[in-house]
Amino acid sequence: MNLILLFEDDFINGKTAVRLVGRRFEHVRDVLRAQVGGVLCVGLADGRIGGGTVTSINGECVEMDVVLSDNPPPPLDVRLVLALPRPIMLKRILRTITAMGVKKIILFHSSRVEKSYWKSPVLQPEIIREQLVLGLEQGRDTTLPEIRLCPRFKPFVEDDLPDMAKDTLQLVAHPGAMEACPEGGGKDGPVTLVVGPEGGFIPYELELLAGLGFIPIHLGKRILRVETAVTALLAKLFL
Ligand code: SAM
Repeated sequence: MNLILLFEDDFINGKTAVRLVGRRFEHVRDVLRAQVGGVLCVGLADGRIGGGTVTSINGECVEMDVVLSDNPPPPLDVRLVLALPRPIMLKRILRTITAMGVKKIILFHSSRVEKSYWKSPVLQPEIIREQLVLGLEQGRDTTLPEIRLCPRFKPFVEDDLPDMAKDTLQLVAHPGAMEACPEGGGKDGPVTLVVGPEGGFIPYELELLAGLGFIPIHLGKRILRVETAVTALLAKLFL
């Protein structure tokens, strides 16, 4: 936890004093080993970042006086359109891409996504939110990403994706594609990046995406796991 993410209901006097209990308190006590007078990096969810000076700490809670002075880091200008990964991998991917600064995440169905994944408890809003919060704490950010679930491939690709991807660089990651992922390709404007499921896209899906203007791109000859491919793609495009 490189930043302690605060929420409005952590404030005890309306403006600057906060009291933390539970996971964040235990982290402050056991990992950061904060003492009264110590200053910790804090940020308000969907707000600014700053410092929290510890004013008291006991067996149950920590209290801090916070000053929120700085903007969070700039987001990556990307819509990440991801075929729904297996639930355990989804949790890791959500944490990683949130830490990297992705703010628009679209999870969609495709032929090689197992239908049962859509019934996973991991898709419950509170579990998704937990991963996003962990990602923000890791990346020293405060802006919660938006997530959209699109459990039907054709209506999503035909009706929603064209508008979503309008005026963006449209890329679909596919091993064996002719073009390489453009280095720094995300630095000149918005990108819509489509990433496939563990079993890859079927030809029909790739054709439909190509018909909308999505350019297939590769990351070299090795086939990577989805979580590795997503990280490598974002790094190559934006970092
Ligand atoms: N056998 C599948 C195939 O050939 O498409 C492998 C799919 S891969 C495990 C899962 C997804 O990660 C792919 O659909 C693609 O979006 C992305 N990916 C993995 N390795 C990649 C690479 N070398 N180049 C581009 N995309 C890659």
